[in-house]
Amino acid sequence: MSEIKSVNPYTGELLKSYPSLNEPGIREKLELSDQTYNNWKNTSFSERAELMSNAGKQLLKEKQKYANIISLEMGKVIKESVAEVEKCAWVCEYYSKNASEFLQDEPIELPDGKKAKLSHEPIGAVLAVMPWNFPFWQVFRFAAPTLMAGNTGLLKHASNVPQCSLAIEEVFERAGFPKGVFQSLLIDSKATTQVISNPIIKAVTLTGSEKAGASVASEAAKNIKKAVLELGGSDPFIVLKDADIDLAAETAVKARMINNGQSCIAAKRFIIEQDVYSKFVELFSGKLKELNQGDPLDEKSDYACMARADLASELYDQVKTSVEKGAKVLVGGVKPEDGKALFTPTVLTDISSNSPAYSEELFGPVATLFSVKNEEEAIKLANDSEFGLGSSIWTKDLKKGELLASKIESGAVFINSMVASNPHLPFGGIKKSGFGRELGRYGILEFVNTKTVYLG
Ligand code: NAP
Repeated sequence: MSEIKSVNPYTGELLKSYPSLNEPGIREKLELSDQTYNNWKNTSFSERAELMSNAGKQLLKEKQKYANIISLEMGKVIKESVAEVEKCAWVCEYYSKNASEFLQDEPIELPDGKKAKLSHEPIGAVLAVMPWNFPFWQVFRFAAPTLMAGNTGLLKHASNVPQCSLAIEEVFERAGFPKGVFQSLLIDSKATTQVISNPIIKAVTLTGSEKAGASVASEAAKNIKKAVLELGGSDPFIVLKDADIDLAAETAVKARMINNGQSCIAAKRFIIEQDVYSKFVELFSGKLKELNQGDPLDEKSDYACMARADLASELYDQVKTSVEKGAKVLVGGVKPEDGKALFTPTVLTDISSNSPAYSEELFGPVATLFSVKNEEEAIKLANDSEFGLGSSIWTKDLKKGELLASKIESGAVFINSMVASNPHLPFGGIKKSGFGRELGRYGILEFVNTKTVYLG
């Protein structure tokens, strides 16, 4: 039987190890999900809302405990882990308050005087395949709307965060949800295929890499099941010459370094108008070097390590190949120690279009800087990517910002701000960043049957 291991990436210490679920174990959980669904779908919004609000309270009550688990298991610095748990409480509260209004029946008046209505009904058990980078947030932003809509949820979490997976199950249990409304499946990715094909599962959502997304979506398609995909990004951060350069540079460092650069919506490509390029570069590299590297559990650390040693080594390979193809290293560029997850923040310039730093997602603390002649060139470069998740534009002219936003190929554009997820704002990508939306009203509508009822 294979094992799912929880390892502290900062020290390499094995924290815990769990046997992965075998076939009868998986079947039992799926059957429980299905049985629970038959009652859960008939509960009222107010009953569900009370439980979801309890989940938010439970998160806040034990936020330090949950934050410690996150930091120990995937290396996020503790202040960011605490903020992540608080944000999960926010999304619970948001859907607890708004789900009933979002899913209200919608009357339709027909031209012949007849009436119809749309009702949004639950669909059953939904599987979530989730990544380790925001191991609580990614799960709660799926679970809060999905459970409020009357569905049940099953989580296949990333294999390096089993403790987070079980802790999330505990949050729902302690909040008073009936057993089976939300369950954690400790399985490896190979076992996902059999779960998706099981008739109990009605839909699947995956947050993760392009490769995992393609595999899960193919399996869902083969079984005629809906899939939502939240995949990678290589978000542009465009700074025009009329921007507040100090604020842009300060925010750029945060936007690149959040979660040690391991965020899908981290700014990854900095596209700067040539008149302000050198000022931006100086401010950006200066502020980057001021950050404190240290233990994830130390309140003073700004960043710690990557989530696994193999991820640090893969990222270095992308940097190395890009340098071989002409990129210049302005900051960092240091090879990580073998078997270690520590990675020195790196800034690259003069990036050629045939290098990984130009076309691939850099999922860690590596920034790429580009100087462009004007706005048109900035937009052209921003759109020259297979990804289309978020983007950020910096200008004091908001009208111009809005006009340029309409020309950018991405699921979100933030003007004079870094891209950030927020329960009120629908979130998702286009191109190879995936399809479907999470959060806001659009998020809860993904996993419902929008039924047309004609009143003849
Ligand atoms: P990953 O390797 O794709 O893993 C994500 C999840 O998919 C894990 O649970 C993983 O399980 C599972 N998985 C991997 N291969 C699979 C397969 N063939 N079939 C079924 N399941 C499979 O991604 P990651 O390294 O955890 O996360 C980083 C990626 O996620 C980045 O590309 C990032 O941009 C993206 N991301 C996107 C968003 C968004 O909202 N758009 C948010 C966060 C992250 P195992 O761990 O067991 O392999």
